[in-house]
Parts: sequence; C-alpha cells; structure tokens
Amino acid sequence: MAETAKKRRAERSSMHGGLEGKLDIAAWGLLVLGSAAGFVVLQDRERGFVNTVSIVIEAIIAWLLFRSLAEIIRLLKHQARLPYGGKVSGVTETVAWECSACGATLYDPGICDRCGCEIVGTEESA
Ligand SMILES: [Zn+2]
Repeated sequence: MAETAKKRRAERSSMHGGLEGKLDIAAWGLLVLGSAAGFVVLQDRERGFVNTVSIVIEAIIAWLLFRSLAEIIRLLKHQARLPYGGKVSGVTETVAWECSACGATLYDPGICDRCGCEIVGTEESA
C-alpha cells in the first residue's frame, strides 16, 4: 500500500494579474513599439537620427512611468496585506570594507594596503 501525502503551497508560488500586471505589459509594449517606431523613422535621411533618439527616449520614459505605477500599486497592496501580481523591485547592496586601524578601503580581504595590518575578522559597526 502506497503512503499518502498532502499537497502544500510551495515557496515558489507566485501571483499574476491585477492592474499592476496590465501596467507591466503596457510598459513593455510601449517600449517595444517605441523602439520599432524609432527604427522606422531612422530611414529618413534628413532628420531621422534626431527623431529616432527622441522617440526612443520617450518610449523609455513611458516604460519607467508605467513600471513605477505598477510598483506603487504593488506597494499599496502589500501594505494593505492584499495579494498582488509580480514582485516588488529590490535593490542590490555593495559592501565596501575598510581597515579598522587606519580607515583605508580594503582591496585585499586579508591585509591592509596602507598600514599593512593583517585583517583577522569583522568589526560590527555601531
Ligand atoms: Zn589599515
């Protein structure tokens, strides 16, 4: 006889849809259409380059605007503990280490280039 099991919600489950999802789709659509229109306008020999740059910049600004609106809706839904589609954008942290003795930036994790101290551990900042 086979053992029984229950299904459970996986950590990798994600939600889609909502107005925020439609705004994301519109943002990508405007970016693609704007870029395509830029390449079409580029065929004009007299003012093609200037018009192409203008159209592509406008498409990028529209993409940023629509993505920002989608992010605001996600954050509002997250704050209200409602389900929302997509993910809230994150940030990437870059840690710069410095020597606790002289304050110089460490390029080698084992030794300070300025004062020559051997780096043996991590000091927690206040
Ligand atoms: Zn040092």
